[in-house]
Amino acid sequence: MKTVVLAFAFALGPCAATLAADYTVATYDVSGMTVSEISASIKNAGPDGYAGSTDLEPPSYTFDFADKGGKCATQNAKITSYEIVVKMPNWTDEGSASSCVVNSYKKMRSALLQHEERHVKLFTDAKPALLSSISGVNLPGACTAETISKLEEAANKAFKAKQASVQKQNDDFDAKTKNGVTDKPPVVLDNCP
Ligand SMILES: [Zn+2]
Repeated sequence: MKTVVLAFAFALGPCAATLAADYTVATYDVSGMTVSEISASIKNAGPDGYAGSTDLEPPSYTFDFADKGGKCATQNAKITSYEIVVKMPNWTDEGSASSCVVNSYKKMRSALLQHEERHVKLFTDAKPALLSSISGVNLPGACTAETISKLEEAANKAFKAKQASVQKQNDDFDAKTKNGVTDKPPVVLDNCP
């Protein structure tokens, strides 16, 4: 599997307008000369059998602690890594297939990228909420080793809970669009004669 940077991915897809969000694209190879061969190849090689996927790599974050009016609280919270990876198919037989199949694939790929970019937006929009879930978490008392350890645990738990709710938003979006099949444009491969 190869990973390419966003700018390169855009050069490949004319419909992938501008998106301020940062993400990387990983591709997997798909082969076939007909629509049904390509579909079978996607089912076999695609992420969970789907044509594409968008995942948030486990984010890294840091914070420290401070005594604040009788409480010990997290402060200076920062998300230090936040990598969104979009997996897309790379069709290896494009150069030799019929123009109908090429058009069908291109249409599907463009719709797929639009679908995955909706996931990217959900993950990107969630970043401030993830940050605030670990900001200002506090416990009564001074910042002793014991309090700090409990506070750390509470902040990690809050972050995980927020992350789960962001994942659920993405899962709900997939349920609503049947993983893109009922999207506009739909993520489908039109049949060719
Ligand atoms: Zn999806």
